[in-house]
Amino acid sequence: MKPSDLNEQKLSTLVELIRLTKSEEMNCEDLLDHVAGYADAFAKGLPVQPESEPVQHHLSICPECLEEFQALVEVLRQH
Ligand SMILES: [Zn+2]
Repeated sequence: MKPSDLNEQKLSTLVELIRLTKSEEMNCEDLLDHVAGYADAFAKGLPVQPESEPVQHHLSICPECLEEFQALVEVLRQH
């Protein structure tokens, strides 16, 4: 293996790590910062923005936040 190959491999591993961290490591506190915008778009039937993907992912793994989210959407839909 040439040194350049090694560097390329390291770089792609790093990129992969960043990607995974970004999409899967949102916690409940982070979610609160982003859920309002997502709930608003959801209530209006707007398409999901790429930046809302971590929110969607968290909601799919966290029943407590999903409950909060559904309550928020209900409120938004009444306005
Ligand atoms: Zn949560």
